[in-house]
Order: sequence, then structure tokens, then C-alpha cells
Amino acid sequence: MHPGEKIAHPNRYIMTHIMLWVFIPMLVSIGAFNGYRIYNDHRLMLNQIEQDVVGSLHLINEAIAILESLFENRMSEGLDIFMEQYHLSGEQPGKIDLEALSARLDDQMDLYIINADSVVQYSTLEQDIGLDMKTLGSFADYIEQIRAAGLPQVDPVSKETLTGFYRKYAYAPTPDKEWILELGLKNSVISSYLQALDPVRVIERLVSNNPVLNGIRMIDRDGWEISMSTPSQVDDVIAERALQVVESSQDLEISQWNRTLRYIELSSDGDFKWGVLDQVIELDYNRASLMSGIIANLLVTVFSILICLVLARRFRRVELELRQHAVYDVLTGIYNRRYGMSILEREVSRSKRLNTPFSCLLIDIDHFKSINDDYGHDVGDQVLRRVSQELQKFIRPYDSFFRYGGEEFMILMPGLTLQEAYSCAERMREICESVKFSLSKTDPDLNITFSAGVAQCQPDDTHKTLIKRADKALYEAKRSGRNKVLLSTASS
Ligand code: GH3
Ligand code: MG
Ligand code: MG
Repeated sequence: MHPGEKIAHPNRYIMTHIMLWVFIPMLVSIGAFNGYRIYNDHRLMLNQIEQDVVGSLHLINEAIAILESLFENRMSEGLDIFMEQYHLSGEQPGKIDLEALSARLDDQMDLYIINADSVVQYSTLEQDIGLDMKTLGSFADYIEQIRAAGLPQVDPVSKETLTGFYRKYAYAPTPDKEWILELGLKNSVISSYLQALDPVRVIERLVSNNPVLNGIRMIDRDGWEISMSTPSQVDDVIAERALQVVESSQDLEISQWNRTLRYIELSSDGDFKWGVLDQVIELDYNRASLMSGIIANLLVTVFSILICLVLARRFRRVELELRQHAVYDVLTGIYNRRYGMSILEREVSRSKRLNTPFSCLLIDIDHFKSINDDYGHDVGDQVLRRVSQELQKFIRPYDSFFRYGGEEFMILMPGLTLQEAYSCAERMREICESVKFSLSKTDPDLNITFSAGVAQCQPDDTHKTLIKRADKALYEAKRSGRNKVLLSTASS
């Protein structure tokens, strides 16, 4: 076949290439972008939750600070009244009516009187009488410091790790430092104010309102989980993490496939009140929504890519077919007229440009109509195929051979002069004439002949005038009896 193929071939597989090199990379980028966005949104949500949690705890803390100052005023007043009663009793604590005094203080406080041996000698709480402060270790030292200073002291509220009870105590040493008058705000009083501000309850609410949160725990540096009504010890691994965060003052994040654990230190400056918040908070985030988002995105992307691949395959087949139709003749399999004419045009201009000979041959089968008439259209088709196969044998690598019309063929012969082309054509005609076309077992063998016109490209020729001259020679061949090859002279 002719190397001129390239010039007129339609671009191959454009849609297939678009599918493979545009759509699939686009889908991959969209998938990657979406995956990144899903992950990023998840991170933003975690940050938001974290800020909400810490923000809530700070709010609680501020509210608690206000409560604390209210309690402090009340206890300072209580200590004044207690001291007044001490003086009124002639500085004999045994004569103070503690019950009456407690009633005067709205029954909100327990009263204690600690003697010089640091033993609770009188109290509104029977079971605390006789309690020896020295058995409480550092607390006894604290009491002795207060006694030595000789000044009233109101402690901040604290939360007992073991019981979860809130405590607030105030102390006033008597002027002779013999006794210490002590008030203890009742847990029930503190709790009644604290109910709405209890971090444990606030946290429970945050968790139940947020599907991304599995849970929140507050853990102290000793590994006690204090965000429970009854605190308990967490397992060693978590206690170690909490300690690590407290000591390094750096957040810690542990990612597992289905959850993310974040440990943050609430405050390293001891600013949080009531012993609750100077702790590590463990946020346990659920990754189910993240994972399902990523998997769904992955599935959609993979599915879309598969569709693209299937479409690319289909397009390839369609484009291959289109290409076949654009270039080849369906019946004979040789080049079709449209494609052949584009080669002819190119060969004419090339021959003129390079000043090399170029001849073409127009062939028309003789009395073809009668083959159709006598044997049917199918046999006619078969003859066309056979003749094209026979002629094909004469085609040199640089020649082009195409079906010009119904039973007409054209052979383009670059480099051949009129005479040389004529010799070739004559040889073809002779061979064709001698070939017996056996069509079927029942039909007799056929003798097929053709007539042909040969023309050589002249400097003033276009492809149209060249064909016209070849056609004229062909017409002459027909008119003068058929089964012959005639030359077109340049002037004819
Ligand atoms: P001549 O020797 O003058 O060329 O006579 P002819 O019968 O070959 O020429 P004519 O132009 O009268 O008839 C050509 C016939 O070729 C008519 C048409 O039906 C037939 N033909 C054209 N294309 C095809 C085809 O693809 N298949 C078949 N079977 N016949 C075709
Ligand atoms: Mg014809
Ligand atoms: Mg014919």
C-alpha cells in the first residue's frame, strides 16, 4: 500500500484518547480532591468539637469562680458569727450551742472546733468528733500553719477524687490560738448550685448531641477518670498518655482505623477551679463517617473509571469502524474513492513539484451489467472482489489502487511514464483475460475482460484533468471494441 496513507487518514481513536487521557485523569483528580476535602472537613469538625468542649469547660469554670466568691462571702460572714459566739461563750467552746448556730447559718454548714492537739473536740457531725487531724498527714501541717498565722482562711472548693463530693472549708484560729473554729459548706449545698455546671453532665450532653464523639473523659495525672459520678482508675496505657501530656504540655493524637483519640491538657497554669479541670481531657472521635465518606468516594471514582474504560473500548471499536469506512471500500477491501482521490491529488502535486513522471490507469470491467443480469447481483459482487484481488497482484509498493466507481478501478503509478504504465496495464489485461473466474460448482467459469485508459500527468494537469484524459482514453477503448488499453496523449 501507499505511504501516502498518513495524509488522508482520519485521526485515530480521538474519543478513545479523550476517555483515557482526559476523563480518567480528571476523575482521578476529582476523586483525590474529594478525598482530601472529606478528610479536611473531618479535621475541621474535630477542631470545632474540641473548641466547643474546651469552651464549655472554660465557661463552667468562669461560672464556678463567681459561685466561689459568693460562697466565700457567706463563709467569711459565718466565721465572724462563729467567732462572736466563741467570745459570747466566755471563750469556752463547750458552751456554744452549735445546733443553734448552724440553724442561724441556714443549716448550710457543718461546724467543727479543733483543739490545740489538732483533734475535733466539738462538731455538728457526731461522727467527726474525736477526729485527729494529725492522722491526715499534710493536712495537719496545713491546719498548724493557719493556727500559727492566726488569720481566718477560706479554702477554695475542691472535689474529692474518691467520693466525687465537693468540699469547701473555712478556718478561724481563736486569738489565743488555742482553738480553731472550722466551717464546712455541705456537699448538698454546693451540689444544688453545681448541678447545671457539673462538667460531667455538660460533657454527657456534648457527647449525646454529637454522633462523631464516642466519648469524652477527664483524667487526672494519677490516672483517675474524674468525669464519672464515681471516679475510677483508667487502664495503664491511658494513664501513661495522660501523664505524658501533663508532663510535656503537648497534645497527643492516636489514630486508629475506626477512631481518633486526642489528649489535650486543659490548663497547665492551675487556673481551673475545684480540682476538676487541671487535667487531661480525652476526646474519642468516631471515624465511621470519615471512613464511609472516603470509601463511598473511592467506589464512585473507581466505578466512574471503569465506565470510562468500558466506553473507551466501545469508542475504539466505533472509531475503528469509522476509520475503515472513511478509507476502505466495504465490498472489495481496497481503498475507496474518497481516500483514493486524496492520494491522487497529492501524487499530482508531488509529481509536478519534483518533476517526476506519474501515470494513472482507469479500468472498467467490460459488460459487467450482463454478469449482474445473467447471474445475479451477488455473483456480480463476487466478480468485483475477484477482479480487485487479481489486480492487486500487480500493485507495486509505491502504487495506489482504489475503487473508482461501481465496476471501475484506478491505479496510481508514481515514477512510471505513459509507456511504462501502458506496459503494466497491458500485462494486467492479458492476465485478466486468461483467468477463469470459477464462481460456483453449478455455474460455468467466466471470462472477464476490462478496458483501460492510461494518462501521464502533464505540467498543466490537475487531478481532475488527468482523470478526464484517462477517462477519455477509456471511453475510446470501449468504443473501439473493449478488452484493450488505450493511451491518452497530452493534447487529447
Ligand atoms: P461497459 O462494457 O460499457 O462498461 O458495460 P457495463 O455493463 O460494464 O457498464 P454499465 O455502466 O452499463 O453497467 C455497470 C453496471 O455495474 C451497472 C451496475 O448495476 C453495476 N454495478 C455497479 N456497482 C455494483 C456493485 O457494487 N455490485 C454489483 N453487483 N453491480 C454493480
Ligand atoms: Mg462503467
Ligand atoms: Mg463496464
